[in-house]
Amino acid sequence: MARPVQYNIYGQTDVKLVKEGPEGYMGEGFFSTSLDKVVGLARKNSIWPLPFATSCCGIEFMATMASHYDLARFGSERVGFSPRQCDLLMVMGTIAKKMAPVVKQVYLQMAEPRWVLAMGACASSGGIFDTYSVLQGIDQIIPVDVYVPGCPPRPEAVIDGILKVQELIGNESLRRRNSDKYKQLMESYGIQ
Ligand code: SF4
Repeated sequence: MARPVQYNIYGQTDVKLVKEGPEGYMGEGFFSTSLDKVVGLARKNSIWPLPFATSCCGIEFMATMASHYDLARFGSERVGFSPRQCDLLMVMGTIAKKMAPVVKQVYLQMAEPRWVLAMGACASSGGIFDTYSVLQGIDQIIPVDVYVPGCPPRPEAVIDGILKVQELIGNESLRRRNSDKYKQLMESYGIQ
């Protein structure tokens, strides 16, 4: 049996827009906006996550990717393990100090623009592992854009984190990565 289809077309009375477009000027047959907004819109709806999972939070991420929660709905279904092609590093799990240089290496191999999400208490702050061997938060080695609290965070919280990342990406100026402030941030982590 054919599935009912809804078309996302202006002017149809019984149709809701799936997603609002960027701010701009619209008239009959035209729409204009700024390059920043178009690039932001494209980037935020096509995030390629790199899951760096070391422990139990990774299992929760698997649930987030699976059919019930389905991260693909947010344009993030292309999960990759190749840093050079991904733009969102998702660190999930306990990061031992021995593992810290590996996380940093992966981050450095990612091309700009790149974003980082710390999922769960361990990645954000060391969690319950307040010991000599565990890194007390990945922001000690790389800059983090969004923290997702919880031990483990539920998939809803992960999705909320992805939406926050999308918001950041959508509103990011194209010049941000060349700004002095951004360079200073990188230098504070010893990154050129
Ligand atoms: S935050 Fe909790 S669930 Fe996540 S890796 Fe740490 S101990 Fe495991």
